[in-house]
Amino acid sequence: MNPPLSLEACAARDAADPLAGFRSRFTLPAGVIYLDGNSLGAMPAALPARLDSVAQRQWGQDLIRSWNQHGWVDLADRVAEKIARIIGAQPGETMVGDSTSVNLFKVLSAALRLRPGRRRIVSERDNFPTDLYMAQGLIALLGNHHELVLVEPGEWAPYLDDDLAVLMLTQVSYRSGRMHDIRAVTAQAQAAGALTVWDLAHSAGAVPLALASDGADFAVGCGYKYLNGGPGAPAFLYVAQRHQAQFQPALSGWFGHAAPFEFETGYRPAEGIGRTRVGTPPILSLSALEVGVDLMLEAPMPLLREKSLALTELFITLLRLRLGSEAFILVTPEAPEQRGSQVSLAHPQAWPIMQALIARGVIGDFRAPDILRFGFTPLYLSHTDVWHAVDILSQIMASGEWQQERFQARAAVT
Ligand SMILES: *Cc1c(COP(=O)(O)O)cnc(C)c1O
Repeated sequence: MNPPLSLEACAARDAADPLAGFRSRFTLPAGVIYLDGNSLGAMPAALPARLDSVAQRQWGQDLIRSWNQHGWVDLADRVAEKIARIIGAQPGETMVGDSTSVNLFKVLSAALRLRPGRRRIVSERDNFPTDLYMAQGLIALLGNHHELVLVEPGEWAPYLDDDLAVLMLTQVSYRSGRMHDIRAVTAQAQAAGALTVWDLAHSAGAVPLALASDGADFAVGCGYKYLNGGPGAPAFLYVAQRHQAQFQPALSGWFGHAAPFEFETGYRPAEGIGRTRVGTPPILSLSALEVGVDLMLEAPMPLLREKSLALTELFITLLRLRLGSEAFILVTPEAPEQRGSQVSLAHPQAWPIMQALIARGVIGDFRAPDILRFGFTPLYLSHTDVWHAVDILSQIMASGEWQQERFQARAAVT
């Protein structure tokens, strides 16, 4: 289908959108076009009532009895099995809890132990820094016998050899929005005898995933982006069934023990994925995350992907139509199979331009040094939103209003 280029055509496309009903299931402020759901997803409208009940009734009234009476003890497993359906995992391959960074440490440390004698972790230079930092810290902890090699995007082929322990990649780049083919890349790494660790922070809930049938070894991902689990929501991890018996937890906490309430002095890992748990699960945050995940599960992924691609293509097309192809450098691949659910534009004045956009109610974000990043969440965005966002961006560029003094100062969180 051709992109709808006029406001009327966008409205017609929205009227026929099978996902349009999801918009009202989120709380979004009037006058805002939210293109930052890839950084912090919007709040599901059902969330305050759920949190209120967990707080007032479960914690407030039933206190510690809630671990059994309200199933707090199984909540992490329950939410994990729901996320498993979103990432295409088999039952018993997914766990939820801790942050993405900590989960990366868990799976990367276990993966290295599965490949003794191999020294290299290969990743991309523009991978999300926390992944690189966690690898650096782990390497130092292990006595610097390993080496982190950073390559340009997609350029890992020279390192596919018997020194490669782990190929550690983010499937959809937080900067460029470029998407890797998990199945093909995993097969390349495995052919060299190595393991893969995939970061799905910008994939889960945004693009179709089939970790189990694609042969993935390990993965981690975020709860507060496309899964709409709330600020700092628990993250998830994936360990393929075939690696679980040999998975030795570096973070051997009591919730990952085979019998936590026996209070033994020695650590014995739980069977299967349970050993990736560490400490007491965050019940309030998990409850919030479950609301977001439940909502996501109501929407068929093929429809989400189709709409996501339609929105990003519309944004790119309208941008060229209104501003020409010189105004910004398009960083995101145009080939749909290589594009996640975001569009990134490079511009030397990216910071003040984004601040001017935010002042006009179009919220995206800035990524140093020069990227304007727009996330397109098909659950709550419309074609009309995209049209207005490009319209406002065109006005800002034409008027030069981004040059105003108030848009120049940098904030702590970008
Ligand atoms: C957002 C993001 C993270 C976040 O990690 P946290 O530990 O949850 O803060 C990690 N990796 C990638 C690729 C991300 O985009």
